Amino acid sequence: MAPLLPLEEAQARILGRASPLPGETVRLEHAAGRVLAEPARALVDLPPFASSAMDGFAVRASDTPGTLTVVGAVAAGRPTSTVVAPGQAIGIATGGVVPGGADAVVPIEYVVHHDNTIRLADAVRAGANVRPEGGDVRCGDLVIERGVRLAPAHVGALAAIGAAEVVCGRRPRAAVLATGTELQVPGKPLAPGQIYESNAPMLAAQLAAAGALVERFSSVRDDEGVHRAAIGRALDFDLVVTSGGVSVGEHDLVRRVAQELGVEEVFWGVAMKPGKPVSFGVRGGTLVFGLPGNPVSSLVAHELFVRPAVLALQGASEPGPVFERAVLARSVKRDPARDQFLRARLLDRVEGRAAEPIAGQESHMIARAASASALVHVPRGEGEIL
Ligand code: AMP
Ligand code: MG
Repeated sequence: MAPLLPLEEAQARILGRASPLPGETVRLEHAAGRVLAEPARALVDLPPFASSAMDGFAVRASDTPGTLTVVGAVAAGRPTSTVVAPGQAIGIATGGVVPGGADAVVPIEYVVHHDNTIRLADAVRAGANVRPEGGDVRCGDLVIERGVRLAPAHVGALAAIGAAEVVCGRRPRAAVLATGTELQVPGKPLAPGQIYESNAPMLAAQLAAAGALVERFSSVRDDEGVHRAAIGRALDFDLVVTSGGVSVGEHDLVRRVAQELGVEEVFWGVAMKPGKPVSFGVRGGTLVFGLPGNPVSSLVAHELFVRPAVLALQGASEPGPVFERAVLARSVKRDPARDQFLRARLLDRVEGRAAEPIAGQESHMIARAASASALVHVPRGEGEIL
């Protein structure tokens, strides 16, 4: 194996090859999880008019305290042309247009209402309980920058500013392909020496969560011809993710077959644990990831390499991965040469957030890894981290 590439270098090389795909128009109801390709600007003032923040009465602040005559009522969506003259008030619902003449709203619980008069014991400040026109954003203001992956709140903001559709980066089409003669599909009995194929369903779920459109191929046995046919077909996609067959064994065929099919290998072997034998190559606009077969290696390599590529292809300005700080619940020995990624449980302690590495960190232990809620990055180096 060639000298191992430092993690950061491997990540940088991938992002260097993951140019954004063209944008496409997306209806707002399908926009959650998509990456904005053009900045979103408000098409209206928000709120579009001065509106009431409370159920109550629209008044002139300078009339308060005092007794006022109620001359009408405003419901949400039903403005009035009646103007509040000195000594007058108009009933108003939350979201109603504040009528002309009024500059404040008194909540209903602060007035004594009798027949068609209200009595206000206290003075009201001008502007009280009025949401000014454009108080959230002004027409033309930037609301969401390009490159942002849309969360539900963004979808709400886009609807509020009047956007029926947005331009988003196209979702990459990803082919997922597991290799290994020992693999059996879940649901069928295991013959001697077989294990259930778990990487393709996991990777398909990870890819979909990152926004890719996934097609799962049937797994292929360790045979050159079968590899060639499957990888050849997968190379028509924007992204190929294979599992297994990238180590140094004589049955590890993925890299050689991919190269024979015209894939330029960008790297093979990263100074990390798990995931060391990961490979990355390109053919034309297609990115080709060869993930190691051990399920935890596949899981981790996807998060560190494939997910950022999928997001970058969609135009995300921060494709990650993003790590946050936490204290370790037990000390961890660093590896002098390789970055380690430990599966851990996050604990909410009074002193702050702590990450407790789970028992069973070996790269075949996917069932144990599933009980983790975090991935801990232990940078290469000397000594222990506490
Ligand atoms: P490989 O990278 O092909 O040498 O595989 C390494 C280990 O991962 C072996 O124990 C394989 O049996 C196992 N493995 C490979 N592919 C899968 C898969 N798709 N699902 C579950 N285990 C796998
Ligand atoms: Mg194999």
